[in-house]
Amino acid sequence: MNYYTRLKGHFYTITKHKILVMNACFKCHLFKQGIFHDLSKYSLIEFNLGVKYYEGFRSPIDKEKEHNNISIAWLHHKGHNKHHWEYWIDRKGKELYVNQIPLKYIKESVCDRVVASKIYQKQNYTDASAFNFYMNGSDQHHISEVNKKQMYDMLSYIKDYGEKQGFKMIKDYQ
Ligand SMILES: [Zn+2]
Repeated sequence: MNYYTRLKGHFYTITKHKILVMNACFKCHLFKQGIFHDLSKYSLIEFNLGVKYYEGFRSPIDKEKEHNNISIAWLHHKGHNKHHWEYWIDRKGKELYVNQIPLKYIKESVCDRVVASKIYQKQNYTDASAFNFYMNGSDQHHISEVNKKQMYDMLSYIKDYGEKQGFKMIKDYQ
C-alpha cells in the first residue's frame, strides 16, 4: 500500500470512529467529551505512526507493537485520553495503584466500546458485543470495584435493553 492510500485510509478510519463516538456521547449528554474524544489521534506523533502502520483490518497500534515490541502511538494516546483506564494507573509506594476513574469517563468508555465493537464485528454485531468483549477481556482486572460495577451496569443494560434505551439509562446513571 502506498503512502497516500494509507494516509486516506487512516484518516477515514479515525474520523469515522470519532463521529460515531461523538453521536453516542451526545445521546448520553457528554457534549464536551463527544467533541474532544480521541482528538490526540490527529497529533503529529499519533497520526504519523497511524499512517505508517496502517493495514486497514486492525489497529495500526497492533502492527507497530508487532514491529517494534512497543507502540509509541499508544503510549501517547493513553497518556492523553482519560476514557482509557490505562490513563489512571499510577504508583503508590512500591505498588502499582489503580485510581478511581470519574464516572463521566466510564460513560465515554462505554460509548467508545459500543462503536469499536460495531466497527470490528460488522454484521456479527449485537447489543451483547461490547458487554461480551469487556467480560472476556482483561480490562476489568485493572479498574476499581466501583468502576467495575458502573461499567457492568451500563454494558449489561445495553445488552438487555438495546442501544436506544441504553444511552438513555447512561445519561441518567449516577
Ligand atoms: Zn481512545
